[in-house]
Amino acid sequence: MDIKTQKKNSSKKMNQKKIEQAVRLLLEGVGEDPERPGLKGTPQRVARMMEDILGGTQTDPVKDLEVFQDERHDEMVMIRNIPLYSFCEHHLLPFAGVAHVAYIPKEGRIIGLSKIARLVDTLARRLQVQERLTKQVADILNATLNPLGVMVVIEAEHLCMSMRGIKKPKAVTITSAVRGSFRTNPATRAEAMMLLKGGFPSGKET
Ligand SMILES: [Zn+2]
Repeated sequence: MDIKTQKKNSSKKMNQKKIEQAVRLLLEGVGEDPERPGLKGTPQRVARMMEDILGGTQTDPVKDLEVFQDERHDEMVMIRNIPLYSFCEHHLLPFAGVAHVAYIPKEGRIIGLSKIARLVDTLARRLQVQERLTKQVADILNATLNPLGVMVVIEAEHLCMSMRGIKKPKAVTITSAVRGSFRTNPATRAEAMMLLKGGFPSGKET
């Protein structure tokens, strides 16, 4: 699904009643009694929780991305280890990990660091696949900032791989989306990879 389709879908409000009904059915479906004390409040609790954990579905990710002009800044900006929690749309199970986002400003156009973390958060709090989430973060930053380059790397553990199917806990899926000079300039890309691992291009390690 591209951003436009997702945006169009996102105009729909979340329907608490439908979620409650669905959870009740699910409980019945797995052979539980939705009326037993421990489960009585569960449909409402899950419905309220959905507002939070899938709330990005109703949020326009671009809205808050204010661009600043700072002529002095034309070097790489990288935020490492932005925590993320998202949902695999194939199994409705969480995947969780970190995002690393780097960009090189063009003509001094920069963006607040917290806005980048917010962008990751908004796009993660939807039904996703990791590949698309990675691409969306890169494409939105690319379109908003028109920078010299953007690189997004996401590392995540998928519960649908850990607790079901092939049952491989701790397996980490890594996806990347690379645009502009990160793609075309090997030195830039190498510098980014070095920073991403916590090193410094000069060889100094902390
Ligand atoms: Zn899955």
